[in-house]
Amino acid sequence: MYRKSLAVLLSAGLILSVNGVYAKNIPTSQDNPSDTAFDNKIIKKIKADNMYDIVAKLSEQPRAAGTEGELIGVNFIKDEFEKYGYETELQPFTFLDVLVGTGTLEINGQAYDPYVFSGSYSAKVTAEVLHVGKALNGEVPDEVKGKIALIERGDIPFVWKLQNVLDKGAVGVIMYNHSGTSNRVGVANPGQDIPAVTITKDQGLALVDQLEAEPLTATIDVRDSGYVENTSHNVIATKKPHKNKDTGQIVVVGAHHDSVSGGPGANDDASGVSAVLEIARVMANMQTDTEIRFVTFGAEELGLLGSYHYVSTLEEEEIDNIVAQFQMDMVGSKDSGGDHEAGGLIMYTIDGERNTVTDLGAAAGARTSEVIPYGQLGRSDHQPFYEVGIPAALFIHAPVEDSYHTPADTIDKIDKNKLKQTADIVGASVYQIARFDTPALEHARVAPGPVDYEYDDRPVQ
Ligand SMILES: [Zn+2]
Repeated sequence: MYRKSLAVLLSAGLILSVNGVYAKNIPTSQDNPSDTAFDNKIIKKIKADNMYDIVAKLSEQPRAAGTEGELIGVNFIKDEFEKYGYETELQPFTFLDVLVGTGTLEINGQAYDPYVFSGSYSAKVTAEVLHVGKALNGEVPDEVKGKIALIERGDIPFVWKLQNVLDKGAVGVIMYNHSGTSNRVGVANPGQDIPAVTITKDQGLALVDQLEAEPLTATIDVRDSGYVENTSHNVIATKKPHKNKDTGQIVVVGAHHDSVSGGPGANDDASGVSAVLEIARVMANMQTDTEIRFVTFGAEELGLLGSYHYVSTLEEEEIDNIVAQFQMDMVGSKDSGGDHEAGGLIMYTIDGERNTVTDLGAAAGARTSEVIPYGQLGRSDHQPFYEVGIPAALFIHAPVEDSYHTPADTIDKIDKNKLKQTADIVGASVYQIARFDTPALEHARVAPGPVDYEYDDRPVQ
C-alpha cells in the first residue's frame, strides 16, 4: 500500500481525481458444480503454512526500494519461482532516491540546529535574510533576489514555497514551523537547486521580530543531501499456455515486494508476495490455454514505480491481450485486538466499477468461501494497469491491520486463514479463465460467471 505524499505526486505529475458512479449490480448466482471441482484442483493444494513461511523469510529485514534488503528479497523470490520451474526475469529500473543530509545554520553569529529538507540541494550560501511570509503563489517580493528567504510553513506544499522563492532568485531557504515545537519537516523536489533548512516556530517568530530591529545575515551549509539515481527490480515469472490451445490471452497476478524504509513489511506486502508465489507453485504443472505472468513489483511504496515501469514496457498488443490483473496487497491482516479490528477481504477498482477481475473474484469467493464485495481505491499496483485500460483490482482487507508502514509490521501480525482465503479466491479466479474449457475473454469485457455482490466503501486505514 502506497501512502500518497504530495511531494511525490508533484514530482511524478500524478494528481488524479477519480469520481466513480456506482451501478447497482444484481446478477443472479449460478453455481456450476464442475467449477467447484476445478476450484478444488487449486485450493486443495494451497498451503497456508507455505505462505506463512515465505512471509517470515521476506520480513527478516526491511526491503526498501534500491536497498540491499530489497535485493535479498528479489533474489529469494526469483529462486522460488525457478524452484517451481518457471522461466524468471529480473527487470531493473532506475528511480531518484532522496538523500537526507546534514546542515548548519548561523544567523548574525548565532548557531542554530536546523533540520535539512529531505532532498535539499547541497550547498553553502551566505546572504541577507528576508521574511517573505508564507511564500504564497504570486506574493513573493522581488527583493528576495540574491537573499535567503525566511518562510512560514502552511497553506501550500513545501515544494511550491521553494519554487516560488527560487523563481524570484532567492539563494537559500529557512522555513519555520507554524505550530508545535518540532523543526523536522520539509521535502524538496529534484531540480530545486536551493539549500533549504527548517527551524522551530519559536525560533522563526523570534527572527521575524529581530528583523524589525536589524538586518540579519545567515549562512546555510547543507551537505550530503539531494537526489541520487538508484535501481529497483521487478520479478517476472511466466507460465506459457499449452502450444495447441493458446487463446492469446494473458493474466497478470501481482504484489509488491518492497517495503517502506525501516519496516519489515510482513503484511505490506510480503503477504501478497506469498500469495503470488503459492499460486504460482500450485499452477506450475497445470495445463492452461492462457499465459499467466506472476509479477512482484519493486518501489511500490515510492509511488507505484515498479508497476508503472512494467506497464511502460508492454507492447500495444500485449496490453490488448492482458484480460485481467489481480493485485494482492496486505492480505494477511490479523486482528490486533483492543479497539482495532482488521476487516474482511474486499476488491478495489480504481473507478469503483466492477470489472472482469471483481466478477471472477466474486464468483470464486461465492464458490469457495464467501462473496467478496468491491469498492473504490487506488494506492497499489493495479493503478497503472487500469490507466492503460486493463481490467484490474486490488485484493486487500479493510480496515487493514494497523501497524503497516512501521517497524511493527512483523510476522506476528499475519493471519494464516486470511492468507489462505485470498490465495484460494485469486487462484480459483485465475484458473477459471486460464483452464482449457472456458472460452477466451474478448479483451476481458465479458465476465464468465455472473454472481450477486455489492459495492463496499469501508475505509482502509
Ligand atoms: Zn505500503
